Amino acid sequence: MTDDRPGPRRAPGELLRRLRLRHPTDPVTHVERVPARAGEPAPWPDWAPAELRAAFARRGVVAPWRHQGEAAELAYAGQHVVVATGTASGKSLAYQLPALSTLLTDPRATVLYLAPTKALAADQLRAVAALELDGVRPATYDGDTPRAEREWIRRHARFVLTNPDMLHHGILPGHAHWSGFLRRLAYVVVDECHTYRGVFGSHVAHVLRRLRRQCARFGRTPVFLLASATSGDPATAAGRLTGLPVTAVTEDASPRGGVTFALWEPPLLPPTDSSVDADLVQVRRSALRETADLLADSVVEGVRTLAFVRSRKGAEVVAATARRSLDEAVPGLGGRVAAYRAGYLREERRELERALLHGDLLGLASTNALELGVDLVGLDAVLICGWPGTRASLWQQAGRAGRSGDEALAVLVARDDPLDTYLVHHPEALFGRPVEATVLDPANPYVLAPQLACAAHEAPLTPADLDLFGDGAKEAVDSLVEAGALRQRPTGWYWRHRERPEVDLRGEGGAPVCVVEESTGRLLGTVDGGSAHFLLHTGAVYLHQGVSYVVDSLDLADGCALVHTEEPDWSTHARDVTSLSVASVRSYTDAGPVGLFLGEVDVTSQVVSYQRRRIATGEVIDTRPLDLPARELRTVAVWFTLSPGSLARAGVETADVPGALHAAEHAAIGLLPLMATCDRWDIGGLSTALHPDTEAPTVFVYDGHPGGAGFAERAYGTAAAWLRATRDAIVECGCETGCPSCVQSPKCGNGNNPLAKPEAVKVLDVVLTNLAAATAGGAPPGDAALPGALPRQDDRAAAQPSTPAPSN
Ligand SMILES: [Zn+2]
Ligand SMILES: [Zn+2]
Repeated sequence: MTDDRPGPRRAPGELLRRLRLRHPTDPVTHVERVPARAGEPAPWPDWAPAELRAAFARRGVVAPWRHQGEAAELAYAGQHVVVATGTASGKSLAYQLPALSTLLTDPRATVLYLAPTKALAADQLRAVAALELDGVRPATYDGDTPRAEREWIRRHARFVLTNPDMLHHGILPGHAHWSGFLRRLAYVVVDECHTYRGVFGSHVAHVLRRLRRQCARFGRTPVFLLASATSGDPATAAGRLTGLPVTAVTEDASPRGGVTFALWEPPLLPPTDSSVDADLVQVRRSALRETADLLADSVVEGVRTLAFVRSRKGAEVVAATARRSLDEAVPGLGGRVAAYRAGYLREERRELERALLHGDLLGLASTNALELGVDLVGLDAVLICGWPGTRASLWQQAGRAGRSGDEALAVLVARDDPLDTYLVHHPEALFGRPVEATVLDPANPYVLAPQLACAAHEAPLTPADLDLFGDGAKEAVDSLVEAGALRQRPTGWYWRHRERPEVDLRGEGGAPVCVVEESTGRLLGTVDGGSAHFLLHTGAVYLHQGVSYVVDSLDLADGCALVHTEEPDWSTHARDVTSLSVASVRSYTDAGPVGLFLGEVDVTSQVVSYQRRRIATGEVIDTRPLDLPARELRTVAVWFTLSPGSLARAGVETADVPGALHAAEHAAIGLLPLMATCDRWDIGGLSTALHPDTEAPTVFVYDGHPGGAGFAERAYGTAAAWLRATRDAIVECGCETGCPSCVQSPKCGNGNNPLAKPEAVKVLDVVLTNLAAATAGGAPPGDAALPGALPRQDDRAAAQPSTPAPSN
């Protein structure tokens, strides 16, 4: 531990070449050189006060980058705007510039800033306060703000930083106290707006509409300024979130260092007998093992390397494995690799940073806890073990590599998962234009009705308000009247109760379940009711902020799970059985023998058992039964049907139909996160060779949240691209009969049985060909409302006797 700097630095291309050489078959599927980019500065807008320019200059900002200037100009001109550019591209300047300029030039104006977390709001407060601008008076207002300060903030602060929960629970219900602030509100800044997705996003969308309504009472229409990670179609997502037309600025003009980015697919292992599944199982070498080897190899080369691993246990496995193999090569070398996790004290973190930057440490394996609070950049190489879920996280992690002016290496190691597999074979999905969109569904009646109740409590609803709250608002108001929550009068709808409606923005699917440490009685957190059966069943390994717990008991009546700290060598995976019935059809596409639908469905599911799997290898240890009640879910689904005749013509034997549909369903669920910001745990599925409601072979994919969260809707809207990607992912997987990289699912309720991989491709080809023909032939897009109508199957054969195979 003496040398000041690591060994001779290698060019990233050279390092990559040496890493590849150690494998008999080349695991690299693609190398992308992301060139260094010089920034494109823009002049300060002439409306920006000299005082503000000087303040920015003191903080080292000489001029805005072009995208910052563009967004600022739009907002200053009164247009709602979303900046959707990369990490560290300086999105804050884009909103600070118009917001602070206005505060300085109009001494009455106010600004409201919303962040998804208190920590981010606190960061922003520091940044704005550091500018030392007279009269701006920035202040955070959240659950931690002392009572004594609240009134001062309401009366005097002009830049208030808060979060949607506080806006919902505190500011809007107390709007009378905030009238002075709201009647002068010039801008609403919505930072990290891509985090407002799914059900939570739908709630936030209505909180923003409630805010707009309160401002409108004072004749005020604030400009919305949103900042988002890069995503597909940010203008649409921001428009749904605010209910307003929003212009997007997406071209990043900030400078960046060059990166050589390699996509790495671990090799398939020879088939082996599995103890649980009767069939031969083929799997890839685990991404953890592969990452550990790459980490060790890089350390041998003297390269300072950071490996990102999703779980803490995984990070420890990677560090320990790398240390072992390094010590075998050169005794003592293993000591230069460490594991990092959340929960380290500040001093410990600083020491690790120092050791890594000075080269005492050469390798560090970490969870993404590192994203929170360690200032560690300028490494030579970053290894990313498994797709981190979004492009934003991917670039955030890769961005740790590269010192100024130096090229760096980043490697994404694919896990055994259809989406990872697809991505390492489709680099355009990573490096081209993003396609994943932030989705939310403000029309979800389970969100809309409670939000309208909150709005009515704040001020009686008028017919004009129904337009503001959008599709479904009238129905929701009627249901509230019928339930006795609202009273209709000639002047509008009135909240009938004294107390406020109790609505939790983040809760969903029933009351949340508390996670309590048994020995101390400490409340660790809560899990929404919908997920509790999966995550908190007895025996489940539950991860909370990087710490591992095992569940001793789950009491559903009390809404409480008792846990103790323990880090077993295995992870747990719940299994369920599911059935589904179609309640109504929202829209559909008639594509001859194929039908594509979007509609409401009722799903009944029951978690019946769980598997224990070894973390290091993924090997199944055993399956244990569980005794949990069945649950009902009314939600939104996308589904496609095929006529048996079209399947027969495509060469799918009757006996293979259930396996073909089931395999196509798994892969389709695995690939949906490519189109929408969800993960496969947000989505469920079911396939069957004959569904009683569709009377045809059918694959359903549904939102796992009451009332739907927008995922199925996005799948319907992008069906051709989504199912094309699904087909390609299956075809391109090198396995023969199906593996976790293509058609197997880690959460299958049927133990991944039956699965027919080649036939799944035929099924998807039939769907894609007919959808393309229907579109080309100018068939109606399927938005004609046909409630309850089901498709005409032009060549539906006699119903095949077949047992539906519920699964997900
Ligand atoms: Zn495969
Ligand atoms: Zn399944």
